[in-house]
Amino acid sequence: MAFDYNTCMKTLLLTLLSTWLTAAEVSLEVLGSGGPEIDGRASASYILWIDKKARALIDTGSGSMLRFEESGAKLENLELIALTHLHIDHAVDLPSYIKAGYFSRRSAPLPIIGPVGNKSFPSTNDYVTLLFGENGAYRYMSDVLTANSDSFQIIPESVKADKITKRHFKDFDLSIISVNHGIVPALAFRFDVGDKSVVISGDTSNVNGQLEKLSQNVNLFIAHHAIAEGYGTYANHLHMTPTIIANVASKSGVKKLVLAHRMRRTVGREEESLKIIKKVFKGPIIFAEDHMKIEVQ
Ligand SMILES: [Zn+2]
Repeated sequence: MAFDYNTCMKTLLLTLLSTWLTAAEVSLEVLGSGGPEIDGRASASYILWIDKKARALIDTGSGSMLRFEESGAKLENLELIALTHLHIDHAVDLPSYIKAGYFSRRSAPLPIIGPVGNKSFPSTNDYVTLLFGENGAYRYMSDVLTANSDSFQIIPESVKADKITKRHFKDFDLSIISVNHGIVPALAFRFDVGDKSVVISGDTSNVNGQLEKLSQNVNLFIAHHAIAEGYGTYANHLHMTPTIIANVASKSGVKKLVLAHRMRRTVGREEESLKIIKKVFKGPIIFAEDHMKIEVQ
């Protein structure tokens, strides 16, 4: 068959145009840019927005639900709540969302994915049972664990993922990997929507190099920036220093870096952290604030 340059170009342009027209609009909103302190920031929480609908809620730290409401997100649009770990500053608002759901239009079951447990921490399934089970603190709402709930059923899943583990949802794909956060079972998440992607590190020292596996060529990397360089002897077993964040971002080919989970020990040292990270990572770097909405592209 003869090669027809014009036909080929037309096909290519039409393909590009239809890809552009059908590509989802994806953004990540920081609901809470802080850690556990009382410092004017909500604790860790994010929304993955796809075509103007809140499709995933990641972490539910203190103050997150108020920010969720302010953002205009609707509980009935969520396909998932994902919890990186069960520290208070990441998980304490969970029951508030479930209670609020009773008064919302939501009726569809809601999956809640989080880590497995150990001696010091409950699994995600146990956490939900400790809240809503028959002997739970909020046993008056125990029907949320059943299919004939008055509002909607919650379906917890405790995940351990030494290797990348995937789950598919209607509007996005989720990749999960277990990360090191001292004795706390913890997860990092990657969301892929077509060719747009976001990684949320959660709290981790990344001592075992798991984040690089998850973050290859990711558009947006949310790194929890809980400590400044050279901070303490204990906290650096739990969190990434700016140097470690820079190395992960650079090795993974991250396009844009957001520094979240900001705490007093890093606030006021932004210039220093930036200088350290910029030596290694050459892409754009943003310091997170509550309600900052970042387009994923
Ligand atoms: Zn934290």
